[in-house]
Amino acid sequence: MTVLVINCGSSSVKYQLVDTDATTPIAKGQVERIGSDGDGAVTDHAEALVRIAEEVASVLDRSGATLVAVGHRVVHGGGEYSAPEPITDDVLAAIERLAVLAPLHNPANALGIRAAMIAFPGVAQVAVFDTAFHETIPEANRTYAVPRGWQRDYGVRRYGFHGTSHAYVSREATAWLADHRGIAPGQAKVVVAHLGNGASACAVLGGRSVDTSMGLTPLPGLVMGTRSGDVDPAVFGHMDRAAGMSAPEVEAALNRDSGLLGLCGDADMRAVEHRADAGDRDAELALEVYTQRIRSTVGSYVATLGGLDALAFTAGIGENSVGIRRRVVDGLGVFGLTLDAARNGAAGGGIRPITTDASSVAALVIPTDEEGEIARQALAVVEATST
Ligand code: ADP
Repeated sequence: MTVLVINCGSSSVKYQLVDTDATTPIAKGQVERIGSDGDGAVTDHAEALVRIAEEVASVLDRSGATLVAVGHRVVHGGGEYSAPEPITDDVLAAIERLAVLAPLHNPANALGIRAAMIAFPGVAQVAVFDTAFHETIPEANRTYAVPRGWQRDYGVRRYGFHGTSHAYVSREATAWLADHRGIAPGQAKVVVAHLGNGASACAVLGGRSVDTSMGLTPLPGLVMGTRSGDVDPAVFGHMDRAAGMSAPEVEAALNRDSGLLGLCGDADMRAVEHRADAGDRDAELALEVYTQRIRSTVGSYVATLGGLDALAFTAGIGENSVGIRRRVVDGLGVFGLTLDAARNGAAGGGIRPITTDASSVAALVIPTDEEGEIARQALAVVEATST
């Protein structure tokens, strides 16, 4: 079954054409610099989708496959969507209304959906929300201790993001635990560390998200490439009084000038590790802050889950950085993790443990597959609505 996955940002549209039974995409590509001047730039999302439709049509022509659905990554589903949704006028209106919670993402997602409905007439369109997997988080873990009216009137609560990745990786970890440790899937206690440019952790109990480190927005929690993760919220008032920075200016600095970039001047983990290896103290401190935040988050999730069976590393840093995994796992010995240095250092794809066989908690590397997960979820929606 062939599904087109669309990930629409404010100035780019990425796509993957996915055979839901295969592990590698049939085709993928992106249109960048939407709205900018210059050679090859396109004027708007509609033109980008027309270009993608042409590329997809020629791939489908060659392969003889038929497109059964278009799955759209939508960043914010508010508290309204706990599952993927076939796109209707109401769903599209909700995505646009929820732009108040995700001003950089939801408007672009909605533009992409509108353009795809024109570029792919007659093909089912499905919205897959980044927040949906976290709608199972219990009230006590998603409620902020702020005035009650803030949630009721303005939606202030934890939502969480990277939901398709956490859903996929935790499912794979749960299956691994059943196969290798005999743990019943309904009982499995898993923490997923999604460490890419954005980073979040998720506590998963029996396949359901019970806590996650991102919140109302994708800013809090772990240290990221350019995002601060957790800070004292009083930094807003302090930087106003001390430096004359407005709330939007502080928010922008926490999103764009902080994280690894703020700590050492490099946002890319490979560059940070390279500098730390060469003895750069700022880069070394950045790695220590980065990994300490992960360890303390995992520790708190052990309490939330009442134990731990597996810690899964995923995304660019989680899948590739031997050093970050070593620092994290070595600091979690108290919870029963014992690193196997050779396994951790070995190259290889697929799911693999990096702890010893005797380690009571397994640390696993699990390559994420957000596009495949979006495609499978979109297909499931189409199949459910056509029967
Ligand atoms: P995004 O969130 O944009 O999808 P990725 O999941 O691709 O990001 O992760 C990007 C991060 O992964 C960057 O910080 C990059 O330096 C890091 N990364 C990729 N390969 C390696 C590697 N071999 N060692 C360390 N970090 C890596």
